[in-house]
This record gives sequence, structure tokens and C-alpha cells, in this order.
Amino acid sequence: MEAARGVRRRAGAGRGTGPLAVGSPVHGRRATRLLRSPTAVAQIVQLGKKKKKRRGRAPSASAFLPTTREEMEARGWDELDVLLVNGDAYVDHPAFGAALIGRFLEGRGYRVGIVSQPRWDTPEDVARMGAPRLFVGITAGNLDSMLNKLTAQKKVRSEDQYSPGGRTGMRPNRASIVYANLCRQAFDGVPIVLGGIEASLRRIAHYDYWSDAIRRSILLDAKADLLIFGMGERPVWEVADRLAAGEPIEALRDVRGTAHVLRKGEWEHLEPSRFVRDRKPVLLPSYDEVKADRAAFSRMSGAFQKETNPGNARPLLQAHGHEAVYFNPPAEPLTTELMDELYDLPFQRAAHPSYDAPIPAFDTVKHSIVTMRGCFGGCSFCSITEHEGRVIQSRSAESVLREVRALRRMDDFRGVISDVGGPTANMYQLRCKSEKIEKACRKLSCVHPGVCENLQTDHGPLVDLLRRVRAEKGVRKVFIASGVRYDLAERSPEFVEELAEHHTGGQLSVAPEHVDDDVLDKMKKPGVESYDRFAEMFACASEKTGKEQHLVPYYISGHPGSTLESMIDLALYLKKKGLRPRQVQDFIPTPMSMATSMYVTGRDPFTQEPVYTAKSLREKKLQKALLQYWDVSQHHLAREALKKAGRHDLIGSGERCLVPPETGKGALSIHEKRRRAGRSKQRKGRLGRRGAGGRRRGGR
Ligand code: SF4
Repeated sequence: MEAARGVRRRAGAGRGTGPLAVGSPVHGRRATRLLRSPTAVAQIVQLGKKKKKRRGRAPSASAFLPTTREEMEARGWDELDVLLVNGDAYVDHPAFGAALIGRFLEGRGYRVGIVSQPRWDTPEDVARMGAPRLFVGITAGNLDSMLNKLTAQKKVRSEDQYSPGGRTGMRPNRASIVYANLCRQAFDGVPIVLGGIEASLRRIAHYDYWSDAIRRSILLDAKADLLIFGMGERPVWEVADRLAAGEPIEALRDVRGTAHVLRKGEWEHLEPSRFVRDRKPVLLPSYDEVKADRAAFSRMSGAFQKETNPGNARPLLQAHGHEAVYFNPPAEPLTTELMDELYDLPFQRAAHPSYDAPIPAFDTVKHSIVTMRGCFGGCSFCSITEHEGRVIQSRSAESVLREVRALRRMDDFRGVISDVGGPTANMYQLRCKSEKIEKACRKLSCVHPGVCENLQTDHGPLVDLLRRVRAEKGVRKVFIASGVRYDLAERSPEFVEELAEHHTGGQLSVAPEHVDDDVLDKMKKPGVESYDRFAEMFACASEKTGKEQHLVPYYISGHPGSTLESMIDLALYLKKKGLRPRQVQDFIPTPMSMATSMYVTGRDPFTQEPVYTAKSLREKKLQKALLQYWDVSQHHLAREALKKAGRHDLIGSGERCLVPPETGKGALSIHEKRRRAGRSKQRKGRLGRRGAGGRRRGGR
């Protein structure tokens, strides 16, 4: 009865897109199964309880996906269908991958448990809830485990933003591989499915910056049965359904968004693919070839990038010795209905109560709202397009407003929404003018070089959404903290005005990344004149509202194509504009990005033209120091860089000079050095530490 009431409440309350709504992808057979499932009943009963819950009470463990045998039994479960092993702390919020997939499967009637940050010296911890009926899903967490641990200078980070209290050492290096080994020991014969960003971006042979080596596909190293790449909802749903229907894991060879291993004798004569007209996969250069030959690595990267549009991507095959990895085409993007359904799931918006300290990454996002996913920017240094897809998948305004109301029910919400956005702040509902053209398109970016004439850049839906969010009861302020794509924003004066008037807290993050045309071209970023135009528009709009507001530009040092000379040009530009960037990103060659391919091979993966790359840690340091030429602690490095580039003219006390000399006329006195060092320290302190998760969602 309670369940039935809950169902009426969900399906009949005018939402229309909840998991049980008629017309949603889960009506009919799945809805019936959902009703029979004890999970669903528990979930619906939970919803009923939640209504009565007094504001101010933290959710109890029973409201989360179970993490222990006791929590399972409290739900009346004697077995899980799916166990998720997760490298991050368990935060029941849609910004955390394991929670998102866990709740998504739960919404489809599966009994899902999560083991987060298990001990890795014994399989006992991952085995604490028993073997699951269908499969174990493994994720290293929201970040690659090596990126999470080490900086661009290969130093250990002092904080892990995805662990309680920011504690380090909570997950092993290459967590996906270690967890897969543990699960094999713990659960004999249970299929192992890799997912998450680490698996997704290490799915083909790839460069690993931290060991300075070309590594095999992670699927082979982890010896898992299947790898899900991309955001994963559609593939994980199909995998769960087909396993539940009795198909063996070996039969799942044609699920979009998955990869599997083929043994000797299996891949030489392949079954034709059902996804492409000629039914043939693209043969990537083999692991042995790309390991031995940088040109082959570059060709592999180029060929891989061309097969990322689900509308026309072909399957890929890459041999690794006598084995091969077969990659089905990427999963189809989520529809607005599915996006809405996802964000309507009963997230508790809290870290699991077993933690003794807050999770820093959650503090950053807990009062923020994701409105869309995907990015058509295709910036070379970023892998969002490879992971989330190029097609923008937006939520409906109604779904976003429902989330605003959910925020309002949080204890510590004081009416301030810290961000409304996604990988990019202003791509909400933007896409190609025709679905047919979009499906056939083979371009890697809709905005480089130049904004494509087929791209619809109307910011109207976003402006309208922001107005509606602001008008919600209990909302005092709505910030935009996601990076603004200024080449798009400059096409909408209305958006820029709204941004300046309502959504900026004195400072707005933007990411011009560089000023040198060659470097920007390698990055696939717009030219500096586009940034300058936007800066002008933003300044005018701010003035109109009577506010003193500034842009906070992000820059990258050490990117392929970037030389000491181009960094000096950038430093001179900053000086001319009176800018002192406090956040400078030293380029990290993360697995699978196009920039990483340039870094490894010294060539452009599409033209095969040579690309200069700073490879030594010293040169990377020198490039970074030039961006912080004004910081007394960087003076000795900036001086070294200027001397190396033969720009002695920029060392001195003259107006054009970047740094004072070390000694003699114009040198800083010890007193002055101390004074400036103290000021710079204070400024950095105010800004807070910028760890692995510090820069949000790609920030372009
Ligand atoms: S045609 Fe242009 S707008 Fe359409 S998908 Fe291709 S690049 Fe993007």
C-alpha cells in the first residue's frame, strides 16, 4: 500500500519524467519489475519517509545505497545484484560517478551496494557484502588515480579532495587494476566490469606521464571481462539487463560504449559489426607498433579521435601481442527525458554518515547544479569530449527547478547556488541545427577553427533558465562558476549582461589559456582577440550595473607548441593588461588527450607536422615561472627563463621589464623581497589550495 502510494506520488505528481512515468523508457516491463523489486519498494518507502523528515536532520545510513552487510540486511536483502567498488568516498550526489551509476541501476530495479575506498592488502573488505548476482563494477573514482595523487611536477599532492578530510593514501595507484585483482580473489566467477574516467581514458594503448611509458589498454592489465567507457548509463543498463536475462558475459560483444578482449584466433576473422554500414572495424596501430614508433602513436591518436561521434563512429580494434581489444562505437547521448530521470533519482546529497570528516570535493559542488553534459569544444588538452561526448545533453528547465527545490531542503543551504552549469557554463541546449548533419559530421570541434555555421548559438534557453532559477523561492544568489566559453558568449550580449548583473561575485573565471596564435591553434582555442572582445563586453556590462567586477583568466604553461618565447609574449601581454594570474596550470599530459599525443610524439596527430614540446621538468617550471613573473618567489626561475631565451632586456627595473635583476642597480632589497613574499603568500592563502579537483569541470 505504502509502495502504491509512493508510485502514485512519483508518477502522478505532474513530473511526467520520473522512472515510472508512462512514456518514460522504463514504463511497461521494467516498471513492473521495478515494482516487484524490494529495492524499489525500499526506495519508494524512503521517499515517503523523506517527506516527513524534519529539516535539520542528517540522512541516516539506511537512506544510502548499502555499504555493509548490516545495511543490506536492513533493506531485507540477502544478496546484491551489482556491487560497485569505488576509489572515492561515497557521496550520494549526482556529481559522484559511483553514486550516479548506483542510483541509476537502483532506479531500474537492481539491488546495488557500494564499497568505497576498500583496503587493498586483503580481499576481505571488497567481499564484505558477499558476491553479487550479476557483476562487480569498478571505478577508480572521479579522477584518474595517478592524477589524483601526483602533480605536474610528479610530486605527491598534499590533499585528496575525494577522501574524508582530504586525507591522502586512501586509494592505491592505478586503482582500477588493483581493485580488479582484489575482486577476482574475492568473487570467483563473477564478471568484472571496469568503468569510470580512469578506465575510460586508458582504454586504448596510452601514454602514462607518471611512469613515462606507453601502457597497454587497461582492460588487459586489469584482466576484467568488460570495460564501459564514457558516462556509462546506457551501457551499464544494457549489461545489467542482459546478464539478468541469463546471457553470459562472454556474449556481450555488441553493447555500444563497451570494450572487450579477443583472444588469439578470435580477432583475425571478426564477426561483422552491426553498427556501421560496411560492418568493418577500424584497425588501430597495434600496441607493439605504438610503443616502438612515435609516428604510429600519433596515427593511432588521430584515427581514434575520428571515431568518437556516436552518429557515425566505427568500431575500433587494437592488437596487443596475440590478444586484441575491440571497442564498440560510443553510446548514444542521453535524451532530455533520461537526463531528467537521472537527476530525479533519490540522492541524499550528503556524504555517507560513516565518515568522520567532510569530503572537500563535495563541499565544492553540494550547492551547485549541473544543467547539461558533453562538450563540442574539443580542446586538445581536455578529455571531456572523449568521455562525456560531443553532443550536448541538457536537462529540462523543470528538472533543474526540481533540483533547486531539493537544495532548499538541505540543512546548510542559505539561498546561494554556487554554480549552474556543466563542463562549460554556456552550452546549455546548444547543438547542431540538424540532427542529420550532426550524425554525419566528422569534425572534432564545432567551434574550432571558428564557430561552425551549423551550430545554433542561441543563449535564450539558458538566459530563461537562469531567470527561472533566480525566481525560485528561497534563492538569494545564483553564481556561475563553470568556465564561460567566451567565443560563444560574445554572440549573446543579453547573456553577458545577465552574467554581469546576477551571476558574478566580483570575479568571473574564464580560460583564454594563452595568447600566442600557434599555441592556441594547437590547443584548439579561439584567438586572443575573441577573449579581448568578451572582456570588453563584460566590463561594459559590469559598469552598467554599477559593479566593480573582474575576469579571472586561467592560463596553461608547458602545453605542446608553447616555447619560452611564446610564454614571454604571454607574460608581456599580462603585464600590459595589468593581469596577475593567481592560478596557473602546468600542462599535465593526461591519458588519451590530443595534446598528450603531441607531447609524446612531437607531432600533430592530424597533420603529422612537428610540434615543439617542453619535456623536462625544469623547462616546464621555467615556463610556469614566466606566468608568475610578478611573484618574488618565482623571480630566480623567470630570470633563468629570460636569460635562456636571450631576453636580458626584460630583466631590470625599467617599465617594460618583467623581473628585477638579482643584484646591483634595480635589485630588490632583502626587506622588499620579504614584504612582497608575504603579500603573495597572503594572496595565495586567500585563494585556497588548488588541488587535483580545484579547477572545476574543465573550465574552458
Ligand atoms: S556540422 Fe558543425 S555544428 Fe554540426 S556537428 Fe558538425 S561541427 Fe558541429
